[in-house]
Amino acid sequence: MNRIHVLKHSLADKIAAGEVVERPSSVVKELVENSIDANASMITIEIEEAGLKRIRIVDNGHGIYKDDMKLAFNRHATSKLKEDRDLFHIRTLGFRGEALASIASVAEVSISSSVDGIEGYQYEPNQSDEITPSIARQGTDISVSHLFYNTPARLKYIKSLQTEQAKITNIIQRMMLAHPEIAFKLKVDGKVSIQSTGRGSMTEVIKSVYSTQIAKDSLVIDGHTQDYDLTGLIVRPHHFRSSNHYISIFINGRYIKNYKLNKAILEGYKTLLPIGKFPIVVLHLTMDPQIIDVNVHPTKEEVRLSKENELFELIRDTIQQKMQSIQLIPSKVSSK
Ligand code: ADP
Ligand code: MG
Repeated sequence: MNRIHVLKHSLADKIAAGEVVERPSSVVKELVENSIDANASMITIEIEEAGLKRIRIVDNGHGIYKDDMKLAFNRHATSKLKEDRDLFHIRTLGFRGEALASIASVAEVSISSSVDGIEGYQYEPNQSDEITPSIARQGTDISVSHLFYNTPARLKYIKSLQTEQAKITNIIQRMMLAHPEIAFKLKVDGKVSIQSTGRGSMTEVIKSVYSTQIAKDSLVIDGHTQDYDLTGLIVRPHHFRSSNHYISIFINGRYIKNYKLNKAILEGYKTLLPIGKFPIVVLHLTMDPQIIDVNVHPTKEEVRLSKENELFELIRDTIQQKMQSIQLIPSKVSSK
């Protein structure tokens, strides 16, 4: 029988990468989240061959110190958590310190970064141990090439470049909806595919992501309880879709999936939607990070909420009131 030993880093990273970097769009998601966490106001995403050939993300965020550059590629190395208790107050999108290590274990990576716009440094973790000077531009520029070159099973599982590209575009659209204050630009095989202005207007983002008409037919909502703040745009129910993909819920800037909150939205629209049809909705929820647990799954899309019922009612009632105010739903109060 074989004896027990601790896995070497490179193998442990590859195993962890299985969870974090499932496909090209997961790499894009992790890298853009890092740029957002670095407080970037401009993020450019360049994709070649649906991300399999190359993914490049350039941001103007706070950058990485030269002395932290190597550390950033170690598993469980993060600048976002320090103490155990920090896990219950997460304000950043990342915190697990796994993405860069995972990505570098399944692709060629080159990163350059500058914290001050005066000195810049470059590092290629799979090529050399050296950190070399590079052009100095405030922020970080990371390139991921030949994704999954050393994990053939994963590469095989990617069936169509078109499907993968659609998933990437979808992630960027979501990021735009989550952060109207950031100017995003997505370039696909050299051509600008979508972009947002970063001027902070939700309606403007809806225009870029969906259409001018949908932006025109959207209504601003907001509502509050002691624990939750809700703002967002809901689109008039004559625009509807056959899937719930056009419902985007963000909690503290993070895209989440939650069956119950989706249901609250549908109940808010009541009978205004045909059966089996779904509305176009963007909800931004802010709450104390203490009442939400984002550490449920490596992709962090699933969350656990305490006081979920309070939030359910807030969403349903806010949407319902908006619909009543534009007289789409007869008021519940009967006339005397
Ligand atoms: P996490 O985001 O969970 O901390 P990552 O592996 O994604 O883990 O990144 C490791 C660290 O590298 C981050 O904590 C951050 O300090 C730094 N980092 C990564 N990308 C960027 C970026 N674009 N700008 C500034 N710092 C970055
Ligand atoms: Mg990260």
